[in-house]
Amino acid sequence: LSATPLLSLDDVHAHYGKSHVLQGVSLQVREGELVTLLGRNGAGKTTTLKAIAGVVPATRGQLHFGGQPLQRMATHQVAQRGVCLVPEHRGIFKLLTVEENLLLAQRKKSPWQLPDVYRIFPRLQERRLNGGGQLSGGEQQMLAIGRALMNAPRLLMLDEPVEGLAPVIVEEIVAQLKTIKAAGVTILLVEQNLEVCTQLADRHYIIEQGCIVHEAYNAEFLRDEAVKDRYLGVG
Ligand code: ATP
Repeated sequence: LSATPLLSLDDVHAHYGKSHVLQGVSLQVREGELVTLLGRNGAGKTTTLKAIAGVVPATRGQLHFGGQPLQRMATHQVAQRGVCLVPEHRGIFKLLTVEENLLLAQRKKSPWQLPDVYRIFPRLQERRLNGGGQLSGGEQQMLAIGRALMNAPRLLMLDEPVEGLAPVIVEEIVAQLKTIKAAGVTILLVEQNLEVCTQLADRHYIIEQGCIVHEAYNAEFLRDEAVKDRYLGVG
């Protein structure tokens, strides 16, 4: 892990109209790390990802990616720098085939080309000629992640990738994310399924009412029933 973080947020605030949703989020993600952002419903997890991606403007604070400031940058400029958000609702094209969806996202210089994506997601290869709209929820999620990879991400941000999926599919996606992490992709993960988070992550941040209230390495977090109980209501 390099010393300078790939992503760094310092006292980031964000509003929806008058509603002050992020109230000083500070966090870092180092190159090659998998970091989760945990918290109860409405705590500000999705908004944090959106602020990083430039979808929601930061009204105060600093965001840096690869040492460069991100704030006031348009979404496409942030994306060009390699920040890739896979939103909760996946954003795949239902009328295009799986393969067309992937090829649309392809960047020539991406280390992830079609065969690489098919190696990780054999189901996508099997379904390559099917329409995006004919896929199961898990397959749609795989396609959304596959598309993000073809886009050459330096930072992959995933918003609840296993929400609503059957346990056997969750396991499959966890294994795939492990492979993607092992290939060196830096990942910031928002996920309610703690088991998934602790299987994958190097570190965790907990957000509550728009503020980071706790930070821990995975081994430490796993032992800390009090923290899980207090902030996540699971213990
Ligand atoms: P969840 O798991 O429920 O998605 P979250 O931690 O991702 O929770 P956010 O989606 O970031 O939370 O929402 C933080 C707060 O901002 C919530 O109170 C939510 O109701 C509010 N909010 C989210 N999106 C909007 C919006 N477009 N307009 C107004 N308020 C919003």
